[in-house]
Parts: sequence; C-alpha cells; structure tokens
Amino acid sequence: MPTLILQRGKEQRILSGHPWIYAGEVKKTRGELTDGGVARVQDHAGRHLGMALVNTRSKILARLYTRGREAFDRGLLAQRLEEASRFRREFLGLDPTSGVRWVFSEGDRLPGLIVDQYADVVVVQLLTLPMDLRRDLVVELLSELFSPRAIVERSDVGSRTHEGLEPVKQVLSGEVSGPVTIEESGTRYLVDVLAGQKTGFFLDQRDNRNLVRHHAGGRRVLDAFCYTGGFAVAAAKAGAQEVLGLDSSEEALAAAKENAALNGVAERCEFEQVNVFDRLRSLGREGKRFDLVVLDPPAFAKNKASVAGAFRGYKEINLRALKLLDRGGLLLTCSCSQHMTETLFERMLLEAARDARVEARILRRTTQAADHPVVLGMPESQYLKCFWLRVV
Ligand code: SAH
Repeated sequence: MPTLILQRGKEQRILSGHPWIYAGEVKKTRGELTDGGVARVQDHAGRHLGMALVNTRSKILARLYTRGREAFDRGLLAQRLEEASRFRREFLGLDPTSGVRWVFSEGDRLPGLIVDQYADVVVVQLLTLPMDLRRDLVVELLSELFSPRAIVERSDVGSRTHEGLEPVKQVLSGEVSGPVTIEESGTRYLVDVLAGQKTGFFLDQRDNRNLVRHHAGGRRVLDAFCYTGGFAVAAAKAGAQEVLGLDSSEEALAAAKENAALNGVAERCEFEQVNVFDRLRSLGREGKRFDLVVLDPPAFAKNKASVAGAFRGYKEINLRALKLLDRGGLLLTCSCSQHMTETLFERMLLEAARDARVEARILRRTTQAADHPVVLGMPESQYLKCFWLRVV
C-alpha cells in the first residue's frame, strides 16, 4: 500500500476536519500510487492521519475517506450507504416520495459520490475518478439498498474535467421516460431526472421552501430565477395572493407552468421568460410592489478571480429587489457560490440596502437542508448561504 507523507504543518488542516490532500502538500510518496486506488496518509513525522482515495491527475491528489485504517471495499461502501440512508430516514424523517439526498460526498465520507432519490428513481453523480471507476459496484449496492425502478447517472458536470474525466449522462439500470412526481409538504413537483438541472430538482432548498410556505399566505410573491417553480408554486399552494416567476430558460418555465397546474394554482401564477437583471429594473419603473421576494440565482462566482464581478451582480439584484418591497416585506436571498463567503455576502447586502435607502433586519440565516451535511472544518461543503431580510 502506498503512503503519502505530508510536509510539516500540512497536517493541521487535515486534523481540523478537512479531508483533501493537495498535490503540493506532499513531501514524499512511498510506493507506487494508482489512480483510483487507496493510499495511507501520514504527517511529516510518520503519524497516521487516515486513508485516502487517490487521483494523480487532479490537483486534489487524495481525499480521505477514513481517519482509521479500513480498506475502501465493498463492505465499507455498503455500510456507508446504509448509514447515510438510515440517518436521512430515521433521524431527519425524510423519504424519497418527497425527494431526498441520500449521499452528499464528503458530508457522508464518500468523496465524489452524490445519490438522490425522487419517488422510485435514483440519480447518481460520480464526481471523482475513484468513484467513476466504482460505477458498477455503486449501481449494484444502490439496487440492493433501494430497489429503485431506475438508476440514472447525471455526471454531466464541468468539475469532472479537473479529475481528467468527461461529462457522462446515462441510464444505468431500469427505464425512465418522462418526469417523476414528488410531493413535498403538500406541493407536487415534476422532476426531470434526465434533462433537469443538477439531478433534476433543488433538494438543498427544502428548508427555505418550507419557510416560504410559512410566510407566503396572502402575500404578493416574486420568485426570481424560479427554474421549475420550486418556490413560486410552494408559495401559491400556501395561499399567496399572486406569484410572479422569472427565468431565462424556456424549458424551465414550461415545467414551472406544469407544476403550477399540477397543484391547481395556475391562475394565481404568472411566469415570464426574461433576464432577471432587466426585469427587476422594469418592475421598479412600473411601480410594481411585492411582499415577499426570492432571489436564488445560479453561482455568479465560479472561481476566486470572478468574485469581484459576482459581488457587483449580487448587489445589483439585491438592491433592485429591496426597492420592490413595502415595509414589512421579506427578501429571501441566496448564494450558492463557494467563493462568495457569508461575510462577503453580508457586506454585499449591507451595501445594497444602503444604496436602496432601505432599513432591514436579518430575520434568519439559512443554508442547505440537512441531507446535505456540512463537514466541520471544510468550508467548501457549506456552499449555500441564504439571508432572510425584513424591511422595516
Ligand atoms: N430557485 C430555483 C433554482 C434556481 S437555478 C429552485 O429553487 O428550483 C438558477 C436559474 O436561474 C436557472 O433556472 C437559470 O435558467 C436561471 N437564470 C440564470 N441566469 C438568469 C438571468 N440572467 N435571468 C433569468 N434567469 C436566469
């Protein structure tokens, strides 16, 4: 078994909970590393830190899957999958009829593996080379554990290029034709597991959708970047007076309209195919007012270099949104950019409110739902940052 020996001091981050070893942090390697294989990890003095999955083609040379010494074999994978699903089912009370993320990569000590289930269809993402090489085993174990009608792979993500892999999208077992229906807190949604974004639905926004349901009654709601209407339809179903959803994607809006119809709220929902940046301005010019605005844009900052531009983009939409709210109005504003830290996001909100001449209170800070566990010591694993602001 090969051993990675870290440079002096580089063990600190690992000891603090972070599971990644960057190529530049390794002092020396004993034995031959194999891509997709396992290596022992030690500090400069030879003290054991854990065992990791290796990919020499990636800047992240190795990802720890244990602080102990166990092999990464069928037994370990089966046990981790079982633990992860039991935690969702028994502790969080989640179940696939409403959509659930069974496995969240490092959050479940299965680096590179994402497993979601919508009704009787399982969707996997294999994001790293070691997981890509274990595709057949993953499919076999998921079939045993969940007996799904179909297993779909949605590894069509750009980040695979950092691992030396191509994007992949395929049906791995069973058959799927057309969307799958889930029901979350009384709202039904069609999920397109083959063509939708991510694995088809934004499971990570579950807690915020529930809060929207709580606050939407009788209110005028704007859902900007609405995608298939996750927030918009939840709000309408919870009794919103009127809902306007905005998105640039024709397919997403067609699905949003279907979702509204499926829940019998189509007459209170309007959807517009627009650029949100432009439409927020024109809504302001038209004197349109709202009581609840949701801003859930795509990641504006894809890397460190684009943070400054992203800051301006976030500020622009937040400023415009705040100006559309009456006193007592609520803004749910989100960032799923890893590089937009919570501190930076809060500073952006402060500037947006100042320039909008609005006084606001932070009602809540929220994040991804608990089936996307955040690793203590790994800030990247908390990618979703949300603020609920109340205009006073
Ligand atoms: N809020 C959604 C997820 C949003 S994903 C949910 O909870 O389900 C981001 C969405 O923003 C995508 O649907 C994308 O089509 C849309 N989008 C990206 N840039 C846009 C722009 N400038 N104007 C309008 N929509 C945009």
